[in-house]
Amino acid sequence: MNFGIIGAGPAGIFSALMIKEQNPEHTVTIFDGNQKIGRKLFATGNGRCNITNMNANPESYYSVKPGDLSPVFAQFGPKQIREKLNSLNIPTVETEDGWVYPQSWSAANVVQILTDALQYAGVEVKNSVKVTHITLSGTKFVLTTEGAGKTKPFDKLILTTGSKAFPQLGANTSILSELFQFGHRDLPFVPALAAISAKGDIFKALQGVRVDADVTALQGKTELGKSFGNVIFTDYGLNGPGVMNVSHYFSDKDAKDYLLRLNFLPGNLSRQLDEYFYAHINRDYPYRSVFLSVLPGKLVEYFFKMWKIDWETSCKRIDSRTFRVHIKRLENGLIPIEGNRGFNFGQAAAGGIPLAEVDLHTMQSRKQKGLYFAGEVLDVVGPCGGYNLTWAIATGLLAGTEASK
Ligand SMILES: Cc1cc2nc3c(=O)[nH]c(=O)nc-3n(C[C@H](O)[C@H](O)[C@H](O)COP(=O)(O)OP(=O)(O)OC[C@H]3O[C@@H](n4cnc5c(N)ncnc54)[C@H](O)[C@@H]3O)c2cc1C
Repeated sequence: MNFGIIGAGPAGIFSALMIKEQNPEHTVTIFDGNQKIGRKLFATGNGRCNITNMNANPESYYSVKPGDLSPVFAQFGPKQIREKLNSLNIPTVETEDGWVYPQSWSAANVVQILTDALQYAGVEVKNSVKVTHITLSGTKFVLTTEGAGKTKPFDKLILTTGSKAFPQLGANTSILSELFQFGHRDLPFVPALAAISAKGDIFKALQGVRVDADVTALQGKTELGKSFGNVIFTDYGLNGPGVMNVSHYFSDKDAKDYLLRLNFLPGNLSRQLDEYFYAHINRDYPYRSVFLSVLPGKLVEYFFKMWKIDWETSCKRIDSRTFRVHIKRLENGLIPIEGNRGFNFGQAAAGGIPLAEVDLHTMQSRKQKGLYFAGEVLDVVGPCGGYNLTWAIATGLLAGTEASK
């Protein structure tokens, strides 16, 4: 059988390798508009490639129109992905919180090994070739490429063209309009894992502060979503995994009343502060040191100014009611948000091909036999921490396995 794959990101690469593994007699051609395969993969994890996460499961992900992702994870979860990577000479290591990296800690090494693996498996890689049209000829797919004209007919076609996120790295979704002929209707892409814009004195005062926080995205009083993680204050607003994970909720440019609630005392920190305070209540102990025990100095200074508390104040001048108010303020910092910073700053995107249009047991289109999807082109996005490569690799492996049957 003869396979065409559009898009040589991780989803396309793993589809191709899986087809060849299932049957080396199959011929596989993979097209990518970029000069090299895996352009985005190369940039992942700040060059260290956070390739999967041991906690990834169907509930980890967000979709504009949700579907049940469990058929994918039943076949290819993080454990199977690590086994597959290991078999390709990409051994992996795991951090305490389950984030998985290649043992080389190098995205460049991973891309090189996968480039070699494709060549070794006999996959034909067509770099710098953008596919512009898809035509059905009987039951086969013929592609038109920019500059190079029409391709040979393919028995099966796997579409792994990614999302609109990070156009700087060649993201391009123009091919999706070709799918209308089969009855597919793509959902508008929504930037995700993006930094957040906001205005206010707090950003000047706290620029550069990094702090772990429980984060809640709100519109007015309505809760949109939650996250936990590092939050970084910048001159334009907020960055860091804690806020990136909820950034897709702030995508409507016309929406009003977007808010972030930051709890700077996640887990048992408020209990810890209770202990420190009550150990020194009525004593001549600096009140600031209670907070400096767990929070960044700049943040504590900022809150002292807000509370109109002198920096030199001692615990004996603070009664327990005032202390409780201060704790509540730290647990409930409300920040008005302008929106997320868009596709140029978003590492991934929701939207794309709706899950209802794809059989997630096989990744085959429900609209057109012989057409398969994998990766970020589908309406699925995960949080920071290796979840998006997990989705791309898992669905790539599944599409390759099923298409080659
Ligand atoms: C800066 C950055 C850091 C990231 N870090 C991480 C991380 O550490 N961990 C993690 O899990 N995720 C990370 N991600 C997200 C992750 O890279 C993506 O989710 C993943 O690459 C998606 O894989 P994909 O194969 O579906 O799509 P892509 O990797 O986007 O690949 C799609 C490919 O299709 C090609 N293409 C599109 N249209 C055409 C066409 N018409 N003709 C030919 N080729 C076409 C594109 O050129 C592209 O190469 C990061 C993303 C960015 C931008």
